[in-house]
Amino acid sequence: MKISFHGADREVTGSCHLVESSGKRILIDCGMYQGSRELDEENAGDFGFDPRSVDFLLLTHAHLDHCGRIPLLVKRGFRGEIIATAATRELARIVMLDAGRLHEEEAQRNQRHAHRRGEPQHKPLYGTLDVLQTLDRFGRTAVYEESIALTPTLHATYYDAGHILGSASIRIEDTQGSARSVIFSGDLGNSGRAILRDPQSPPSADAVVMETTYGDRAHKALGPSIEELYDAITDTFARGGNVVIPTFAMERTQEILYYLREGIEKKRLPRSMPVYLDSPMAISATEVFDHHPECFAEKDRTLFEGGKDPFALPGLRFTRDAVDSIALNQLVGGAVIMAGSGMCTGGRVRHHLRHNLWRQDSSVIFVGYAAQGTLARILIDGAKRVTLFGEEVPVRARLYTINGFSAHADRNELLAWQKALRPKRTILVHGDADVMRNFATLLSDTEVVMPAKGDEIEV
Ligand SMILES: [Zn+2]
Repeated sequence: MKISFHGADREVTGSCHLVESSGKRILIDCGMYQGSRELDEENAGDFGFDPRSVDFLLLTHAHLDHCGRIPLLVKRGFRGEIIATAATRELARIVMLDAGRLHEEEAQRNQRHAHRRGEPQHKPLYGTLDVLQTLDRFGRTAVYEESIALTPTLHATYYDAGHILGSASIRIEDTQGSARSVIFSGDLGNSGRAILRDPQSPPSADAVVMETTYGDRAHKALGPSIEELYDAITDTFARGGNVVIPTFAMERTQEILYYLREGIEKKRLPRSMPVYLDSPMAISATEVFDHHPECFAEKDRTLFEGGKDPFALPGLRFTRDAVDSIALNQLVGGAVIMAGSGMCTGGRVRHHLRHNLWRQDSSVIFVGYAAQGTLARILIDGAKRVTLFGEEVPVRARLYTINGFSAHADRNELLAWQKALRPKRTILVHGDADVMRNFATLLSDTEVVMPAKGDEIEV
């Protein structure tokens, strides 16, 4: 069994790993590089293998940095079978369709500039049609802990990774000749979170390929973060302003809705509080959650089966249409507005920031990761004024940064997961190089490898 590495090697995005065994080629994820413009070239570059030669694509979860290059793979000739859990399939559909549309829009914009300058044509990385062809490639549905035969001797089994709805760690075993096995962690979640189960521990394997996103730090506790959220909202309402929460469409949005509902039930938040979910993608993702209570942790499934929707608040309103979104600009105070993008780099949240940042009585609550250079990061770092839609906006609103809602396992949880498997070899991916080196010092009784892009390892 041979594994080669084609993305998320000593970095956190672009997950893509290739397994070759018993004459079959199996790709684990095919994600987008994310974070800066320079990565556009990396996304459009050669995969490092021939997409036509790949037989199976096993998808761990629906985040863009794990599924975002699949339509490009199909565009370049991949005709194999894509295998994912039912929830991942539905979420990946939303994510890839959105990405295809954004690529088309961006190419159109660039095209207009290029035309004026007499430069050659801009083509999108891929478009809606490529995404539709990708959806046709989805074959069998993976069910947690049920083995799927890729050949009579080559099997894949998915285990709940507890990271986002439908997320999985995948164990591949080849029993031909001397048996060989490898586990890909995918992204691992935090234990004890709302909605999802804790990450499962698969049976051991010869090698483990694992993520190390937060391999160098411990997360803040969840309980105090939820209280901080409630306090920030009640303080803002007391001042008479609005609360703007920039959120990622998947998981974080639903998690915040879940805690807002609990806050109302515990009488920490006003029952009549209007909450606007102003993101078509987040609305669609929330609907997918409603279809998959089988992915929920026991207590939340019971809640759901008892006729209760864990995300339904008395004052929740979905604003799918742009005209309804624009109407939110008239809100004087006392409302919670959740909109994307999470890092404020685009999307409807920028309109809400324009209408609320200058107001002393309003608040912006950051609940997710904010990369360097993004508007979210600039605000968190204390900018006194920012430019939105060509207009200078003074920052007078109160800003809160609440760090306890991470969807990733921290150092201690990663370590516990790895230790339970006791692999002969531990291969670290999906982390910054210095974080990885730090994490490697914590591992014992295992050979640690940190592959670079293009490296091959024999298992
Ligand atoms: Zn992820």
